[in-house]
Amino acid sequence: MPELPEVEGVVRQIRPVSIGKRIVSVDVSETIRKSKHLGKEAILKRIGADSFQERLTGAQILAVERRSKYIYMTLKSEQEFLLVNHLGMSGAWFFVDSLLSIPEDKFRRHVHVVLTLDDGNLLAFSDIRRFGEMRVLETEADFPPLLLMAPEPFVDEALEWFLQQAESPKFRNKPIKEVIMDGTVISGCGNIYATEALFRMRIHPKRAASRISRKRKVELFQAIAAILLESIDAGGSTISDYRNINGESGSMQNRFGMYGKKACSFCGTETKTVKIAGRASVYCPSCQK
Ligand SMILES: [Zn+2]
Repeated sequence: MPELPEVEGVVRQIRPVSIGKRIVSVDVSETIRKSKHLGKEAILKRIGADSFQERLTGAQILAVERRSKYIYMTLKSEQEFLLVNHLGMSGAWFFVDSLLSIPEDKFRRHVHVVLTLDDGNLLAFSDIRRFGEMRVLETEADFPPLLLMAPEPFVDEALEWFLQQAESPKFRNKPIKEVIMDGTVISGCGNIYATEALFRMRIHPKRAASRISRKRKVELFQAIAAILLESIDAGGSTISDYRNINGESGSMQNRFGMYGKKACSFCGTETKTVKIAGRASVYCPSCQK
């Protein structure tokens, strides 16, 4: 599942090819239309396919930013509004001159939204598993979960925020892995980077937040921020379906010490898996206490 570094990679690539461009037409897949007819909400949330097309057609792209694991596209027709996108499990954007140019068949077959830009190129959103989301919002406040997100992990106030949350009655007795994967505690750290950070810090994923000293919590936060930055530099992690807008994979997965490993990369002990907050958590029973 794309986490902060992967979304950042996509945003950095979409920005230069789209800012200032106008959307001249919008296509929505039959799959989405059928789901709407069935009263379901595949990808397009709280907006019908026709309204979505109407709203975006003719709009100019003013800004493309990342907030946590969301992509915020600021658009302007008469007024400014937001297209907010979450990649879900397998969402991917491609910048291509034709849909046939999308590099892999599995992505080509699952294109659900196509924005045709005024330079003739397409921004195509493919989503194999359809857990991705798109919302048209007047402001962030129209979708309250966005307002609850922790500060970006690279800004000054993020550490203080993390400590406050981790030491609060709501989180202090929870397993540390669950705490750091909660987007209201730290923005953008999912299963992959939480697993790696805890391994680097030699902390057992089930240890209660309250049983980690403040000094170690600070170090853990710094380790998470460092891993996220390292992954941005490596073009993100490609576990299965993450691709950048040119169809390329990231390389951060080659640097993992624990995620997806059968044996600890430090001591060779067989890794164990425990379920925390519904997610499989891999750890080394010998290194992580
Ligand atoms: Zn080990």
